[in-house]
Amino acid sequence: MTIRVADAAESPSFQKAALPLLHDTQLRANVRHATDVIQRKRAAVVGETPDWQELREAASAIKTHTLRHLDSYLLQFEQACTAAGGHVHWASDADEANRIIADIVRQHGGKQLIKIKTMTSDETKLNDALEHEGIRAHETDLAELIIQLGHDKPSHIVVPALHKNRNQVREIFREQMHLPELGNQPEDLTAAARHYLREKFLSVNIGLCGANFLVAETGGVCIVESEGNGRMCLTLPDVLISLAGIEKIIPTFQDLEVFLQLLPRSATGERMNPYNSLWTGVRQNDGPKHFHVVLLDNGRTSVLADAEARQTLHCIRCAACLNTCPVYRQTGGHAYGSSYAGPVGAILTPQLLGMESAQSLPYASSLCGACYEVCPVKINIPEVLIHLRGRVVREQKSALDAEALAMKTAAAIFASRRRFEAAQRIGRLGQWPVVSNGWVKNLPGMLGNWTRVRDLRALPQQTFRGWWKQRVKDGKQADHA
Ligand code: SF4
Repeated sequence: MTIRVADAAESPSFQKAALPLLHDTQLRANVRHATDVIQRKRAAVVGETPDWQELREAASAIKTHTLRHLDSYLLQFEQACTAAGGHVHWASDADEANRIIADIVRQHGGKQLIKIKTMTSDETKLNDALEHEGIRAHETDLAELIIQLGHDKPSHIVVPALHKNRNQVREIFREQMHLPELGNQPEDLTAAARHYLREKFLSVNIGLCGANFLVAETGGVCIVESEGNGRMCLTLPDVLISLAGIEKIIPTFQDLEVFLQLLPRSATGERMNPYNSLWTGVRQNDGPKHFHVVLLDNGRTSVLADAEARQTLHCIRCAACLNTCPVYRQTGGHAYGSSYAGPVGAILTPQLLGMESAQSLPYASSLCGACYEVCPVKINIPEVLIHLRGRVVREQKSALDAEALAMKTAAAIFASRRRFEAAQRIGRLGQWPVVSNGWVKNLPGMLGNWTRVRDLRALPQQTFRGWWKQRVKDGKQADHA
């Protein structure tokens, strides 16, 4: 079995990848502007929802319950979907999912398919796998179209081209759609995309989507979107394939009442998405004639096995944690090397990969807790980050690793007052070569990574305990006098 999460296993560490991006002022301005706009809209619609906290509690409880009984809910979904005329396929990893989808396309004699935005297909690198089989995938979501035509990578879960501004989009469309006179106003760009996509909608007979929710009770699938291009993909083709992670399941149709209030408000700052599509199996003379659901594991069951981190699978991919994260807002999404950027990517990607790769991601956080505050399903991301940092040290680093040895030494020093005071004395004596005006500016060796981006106060000449002792002594002397 080969678990793949886009190119995360081969990507450089977050710290390395982030450095050049921090110098890209245009990218940082684009990310800051877009996330500010979404955050303002979110705050307004959340502020007018009096039972917001109760909704978050309810969503968290539904997800906790579902994951506890995931095996039976998945089987219930399969049974209900099959009874309604759908076909359910099980994929243990990314390659198997891609193979199943390529086979379905071939069985229906297709050479092309139209796609709704689905980060799960980015996770499995579906487009590349289909291309390899001679099948062309056309993205129809505006942001995904920009990414595809610009040979770029998504940088945000909800708005994958958030790092591009209007002028950059115009350049891509001008070149790729052969429209030298194209303007840069939103209506110019959407009209160009509409014209370009219309021909695909009318000529390609196989559609592919993800799933926001899979309803176990009915075997139904729910997709919410803002543009309407998705609705075209869901209704026009004869064959529809849905690729969904196994954690997308919810038990009942009524549970949607909770999630359809939380998701649009958290993701795009809307009370309701303009397009909410819900369908179950196939119906005669109405929509696709063949419907397939591919249920993807790709490391999710091992996330489920970790009691402290399994809350990661509660995620409904709203991206509210990305928009608020001070780290994501500085670097954008490409530094995470995964389809899942920001705080959720920092906890999801390494876990899907079994903690063998992407080990720098749990450290890509200031642990400020802003992500936890906005998460609509109450995932305690800082708690999971700390847990994963522990796993990186315990499971992946050798006992002789310099950092592990330093931590062990620090633990031994902090465990004994005598050792701690001795270390302070040695530190005070030994720090003079690196101290300037009361600050340590450049530590030697690997410790230099710390002072490269921070200043550190020098150890004071007198400890609090020493000062107190002195004070008591002076007081006694004064009494005697
Ligand atoms: S972790 Fe929470 S806030 Fe972040 S994308 Fe998932 S549901 Fe949204």
